[in-house]
Amino acid sequence: MNQLQPLREFVVEMTKAVSSQLTEAKLLLVCEKLLKSLIATSNWLPAEYAKHDSDHYCQHLLHCDPLERFSVVSFVWGAGQHTPIHNHQTWGMVGVLSGIEESTLFNYDNKTGALIQGDTLTLKAGEIDQFSPEAGDIHEVRNALPDQKSISIHIYGANIGIIKRQIFNKKTGTPTEFVSGYSSENIPNLWDY
Ligand code: FE
Repeated sequence: MNQLQPLREFVVEMTKAVSSQLTEAKLLLVCEKLLKSLIATSNWLPAEYAKHDSDHYCQHLLHCDPLERFSVVSFVWGAGQHTPIHNHQTWGMVGVLSGIEESTLFNYDNKTGALIQGDTLTLKAGEIDQFSPEAGDIHEVRNALPDQKSISIHIYGANIGIIKRQIFNKKTGTPTEFVSGYSSENIPNLWDY
């Protein structure tokens, strides 16, 4: 078994799942089980994809389905780093690989344009959170550790790096369009085993 076997297994099983005409609810159940198993160990993630920048968090693409039905991304947070308040336009699932991550939910009131802060969820290594546009997918995510990096594995129901979505101004609630892209030009070679 080589280092990338857990990721390769996740990609193979998730590809089967997205090819199986499951309802989104059932697909998410399968994804959760696979992600739980993927984040049970952390030594499969190559060092190159566990790096952050001292100025900002990194989002390294690990795999994108050829038909863009799902993508797998490692988020690497330096001490105190956080996202802007943002949405996704697709379902997403987050599993913490190491460290502690906090996600604060927001509701956007389309009538008044107000952003209303909701609950904050704290996720430790091995724990999973999920969101969807229907249930509410506006959040701000941060590394809860003040002095160490945290790493989480994010799964999305699309090629998340190219989707036009929104970030929201925390004070005014004003949305602005953004496309996140990815932090690295390479992806791990899953197939040289
Ligand atoms: Fe997010």
